[in-house]
Amino acid sequence: MKLIVKCKECRSENDSPVKAATRIKIVQKYGEEFEMKCNSCYETHTYEIDDIRAVDYSFGELIKNRIAVFLIVLVVTFTLGFILLGLNAGLIISVIATLISMALLKKNNSGKNLTFNKHKVKGRMSK
Ligand SMILES: [Zn+2]
Repeated sequence: MKLIVKCKECRSENDSPVKAATRIKIVQKYGEEFEMKCNSCYETHTYEIDDIRAVDYSFGELIKNRIAVFLIVLVVTFTLGFILLGLNAGLIISVIATLISMALLKKNNSGKNLTFNKHKVKGRMSK
């Protein structure tokens, strides 16, 4: 899951300086507000936790972040397929298994984003 904050000045997307699995957890860890300096216009503003939005990783980012997992899936399924069914089957099985694991990971990631975006802190954390 990637957390971004849109700059109040130039609307460019910045990586959120505060991170946790849900907005509630971010509030518990960092409080209800945080300061962020924009990467594009260098303006510093105060933002609320609800300004943070979860977005999907691009396919490239996803592979980069999980390259070890995909490599393990690839090697293990290739070895098994190769031993049991031969070289061609091993290749086909390992490619299919890797594609499936990528698709599952992407789906899982989108689910987390939905949960994050759904739970706003405004109104419920007031003391
Ligand atoms: Zn900006």
